Amino acid sequence: MSHPQHLPSGVGTPQADGAPLVARTRFPLLRNQPDLVYLDSAASAQKPDVVIDRLTRFYTGEYANIHRGLYPLSEIATENYDAARTRVARFLNAGRDEVIFTHNATEGTNLVAHAFGDANLRPGDLILTTLLEHHANIVPWQLLKERRHLRLAAVPIDAHGDLDLERFEMLLSREPKLVCVTAAANTIGTVTPLKEIVAMAHRAGALVMVDAAQAAPHFRLDVRDLDCDFLTITGHKLYGPDGIGALYVKEKLLADLPPFMGGGGIIRSVSIDHTDYAAGPRRFEAGTPAIGAAIALATALDFIDEIGFGAIAAHDAALTDYAAGRLAEISGLKILGRPQHRIGILSFTLDGIHPHDIGTLLGESRICIRAGHHCAQPLMEHFGVTGTARASFGVHNTTQDVDRLVDSLARVRQMLR
Ligand SMILES: *Cc1c(COP(=O)(O)O)cnc(C)c1O
Repeated sequence: MSHPQHLPSGVGTPQADGAPLVARTRFPLLRNQPDLVYLDSAASAQKPDVVIDRLTRFYTGEYANIHRGLYPLSEIATENYDAARTRVARFLNAGRDEVIFTHNATEGTNLVAHAFGDANLRPGDLILTTLLEHHANIVPWQLLKERRHLRLAAVPIDAHGDLDLERFEMLLSREPKLVCVTAAANTIGTVTPLKEIVAMAHRAGALVMVDAAQAAPHFRLDVRDLDCDFLTITGHKLYGPDGIGALYVKEKLLADLPPFMGGGGIIRSVSIDHTDYAAGPRRFEAGTPAIGAAIALATALDFIDEIGFGAIAAHDAALTDYAAGRLAEISGLKILGRPQHRIGILSFTLDGIHPHDIGTLLGESRICIRAGHHCAQPLMEHFGVTGTARASFGVHNTTQDVDRLVDSLARVRQMLR
């Protein structure tokens, strides 16, 4: 693993002694609540000082709406918003005209379902999703299926929790038009072999929609290298603000997509009978966008790139290995899935104890984990459970956080035995 040469203040390499990758003090909420153990970054990441400072600077010194103003304040806001788009494009190795700002990852999948799906898919066409997906990458396709009378099938997983690529190959022989796949599963952490999946899908004549909401804070997603057609991310999991996300659309596809929502900001000219739409990503950004959130998302991406994905991957692996080892000490605890590659997420069950009880009792001990179906009920059903408890790691976490989790779980076990 390569580590960055010049780490910004508060950023260190993962230590065997359990030091965080980024000091807790860099996160104002964690600094203000020193006893809090936050193990829920997969649901949403806490915000570092630089992101909060950037929002404050925007709202206290730079605030104006974009595009329509000719005065300097509006021009600066417009420039910063445009620069944020370029920053997201650089993060994904996309062209700047291939990045549409959305409000979250879910809007990205819905945008593709409406703008691409409604215009291009015909009755009887097949869409493939997978058993690893978040509801955000299932439900929009079900709605599209109903609207357009399509067929929908899911790629199954093997006993380890990896996608079953043999079954995928078989499903491809049914000539799907679109394959919708996650880059990393938010439930059991499985990292999917995206490059291989995209190549297989393209050989079969299908386009590929990647849900990178969970993967993007953990490893580099290079859309040119992957050659995917659509890819969605969400700001709040990337240490950025909520209410902002981005959708990558391959340039040659974007040119032909009709608008998703109508309104201001997306037009060249409007008469009562006809609208001439703007070219490029602005065609999909109707109304006033999340200007401040977009600008602060750019800062969040700087924060991640300064840490470096090499260091993040090493930290993820160290914490996950440590946690898996320690959790094994608790009798009746079962970790779901043993995928070949995983991000820093562990889903587990405790024999005879409802995941919600685990979540509530840990919450009383100031430990934040997620419990439930994680918006992935088809996968829960596959494992024969209604839900799990899930611990997920961010750059601020330490082995001491894992120790607090394990000690509290042992107490829960005692109490509810
Ligand atoms: C969180 C998540 C989403 C949804 O993100 P939103 O910001 O809620 O739209 C979609 N897919 C995966 C894999 C996720 O983890």
